[in-house]
Amino acid sequence: MNKGALLYEGKGKKLFLTEDENLLVSEFKDDLTAFNAEKKGNEAGKGALNCKISTQLFHLLEKHGIQTHLVKTLDDTHQLIKKVKIIPIEVVVRNIATGSLAKRLGIKDGTVLPFTLVEFYYKDDALGDPIINDEHCLLLNLVKSESDLEELKRLGREINVIMKSFFAERKLKLVDFKVEFGVDTEGNILLSDEISPDSCRFWDMDTNEKLDKDRFRQGLGDVKVAYEEVLKRILAH
Ligand code: UDP
Repeated sequence: MNKGALLYEGKGKKLFLTEDENLLVSEFKDDLTAFNAEKKGNEAGKGALNCKISTQLFHLLEKHGIQTHLVKTLDDTHQLIKKVKIIPIEVVVRNIATGSLAKRLGIKDGTVLPFTLVEFYYKDDALGDPIINDEHCLLLNLVKSESDLEELKRLGREINVIMKSFFAERKLKLVDFKVEFGVDTEGNILLSDEISPDSCRFWDMDTNEKLDKDRFRQGLGDVKVAYEEVLKRILAH
């Protein structure tokens, strides 16, 4: 499958057209951003690591019945994916309070939540991706109906159950993560975008060491080492 014209460039990936109108090529970039792109960076090899990590996790989820946009991996940094219409909602799933949740609601950082929390954020850079509720989603016509929102929540929770136990076996706490979904030509809701240490928080089970994008955002260093460690643990077993 040949990489055609550039269709879209985001913070972490570029999307290219292919000769098949239903398929795109996704290229994982080395760029890193933090807090609405106010801090930018670049970590050579990060794109390849995220591509490998995301491919493994999408395969894991497919195996458990979650439909995804992934067709196949082409090389270290490229995936062939189904073309979908991205639903402009970031679905954030949380097991432990940290980041914006801890700050916004004054919950002590690191508090284990009494139940899995699912939140919606409006994917709009200019507005700074604000948190929104179900009615905002309907008001803005981000989905067709309330049942789509229920489906997004169900999928977020199911992905969490699968990944939380997968990572627990690998001595990593899945603190929280963000997923995006798209609608294919037949109207199916498919898991899209990526799942990687750019979009998840992973803390070491024993030491709580951060093995994700927070290493970059908080200036902890060794970003690539941390991402390599996550991939190593995914591939272990
Ligand atoms: N997240 C993301 N993209 C975003 C915002 C958040 O992938 O644009 C992920 C983030 O990596 C974390 C989870 O969603 O795993 C929750 O992020 P939070 O709301 O705490 O915001 P942050 O503190 O990361 O700004």
